[in-house]
Amino acid sequence: MTTTQRLSRREWAAGIGSAFVLPQLAAAKDPIKVLLIDGQNNHAWAKTSPVLKQLLEDTKMFTVDVLTSPPKKGDFSTFKPEFSKYKVVVSNYNGDSWPADVNAAFEKFVKDGGGLVSYHAADNAFPEWVEFNKMIAIGGWGNRDEKAGPYYYMHDGKMVHDPKPGRAGNHGARLPFKVVVRDPKHPIMKGMPAEWMHAADELYSKLRGPGENVTVMGTAFSDVSNKGTGEDEPMLMTIPYGKGRVFHTTLGHDVEAMKCVGFIVTLQRGTEWAATGKVTQKLPTDFPTADKVSTRG
Ligand code: ZN
Repeated sequence: MTTTQRLSRREWAAGIGSAFVLPQLAAAKDPIKVLLIDGQNNHAWAKTSPVLKQLLEDTKMFTVDVLTSPPKKGDFSTFKPEFSKYKVVVSNYNGDSWPADVNAAFEKFVKDGGGLVSYHAADNAFPEWVEFNKMIAIGGWGNRDEKAGPYYYMHDGKMVHDPKPGRAGNHGARLPFKVVVRDPKHPIMKGMPAEWMHAADELYSKLRGPGENVTVMGTAFSDVSNKGTGEDEPMLMTIPYGKGRVFHTTLGHDVEAMKCVGFIVTLQRGTEWAATGKVTQKLPTDFPTADKVSTRG
């Protein structure tokens, strides 16, 4: 009898537990866990990281942990990101090399199916790290030159690998510019107008790198009158790496540029895509148009 009673009590308890817990679990989807890494950058990372975190958490899809690295030339011996706890890493980092074991752990994380979002100057980082450069496809500054790989840009509607020698990384004054959607079927870009105005920002050009398997989803014309190249330059890219996915945005120099709804939506959608390979977020009604910038906040 005692055994039976214990069993039935346990069953009763389990039943009550299910009745209360299961409907809640069914209603609230598991959030996508994001690791945002900052701590060194030639940009105002302490100002932009809270904005990145807020923009992602505004969707109710993500929970974002921020990992701040030691300062420049600091002691990295305790810098051990727990990549495997996350679906996607957002990099707001442009600074000292990470220890070799951290690099190896990060490569494994993405190879095994993790996501990476490379945000603005994150593509200036790690010029010597071969696998990181494969992940981001192209980068700028950091003493990159022709040894990093060809310049990669669009000319007459076709992507060009240009091996000519020269430094990598360039931009003019921060002005609004038009982003041209080049891959309208991609889940990140789906539903966008064919062209949309981005708020005043740096328009990166002269990026170069291995460029393997990169899909350029959005370009912008780099005007020679604003220190540009006269070519259509990659702004938004995706790159497969092992089983993982990389979303690379060159946009968002500062908090002002991050108010652009085009920046916000591509960040939110790009992070979901890098984490899961899908995008479930609808295009908001305040998305910019071909001739009108749209900002929030
Ligand atoms: Zn910048």
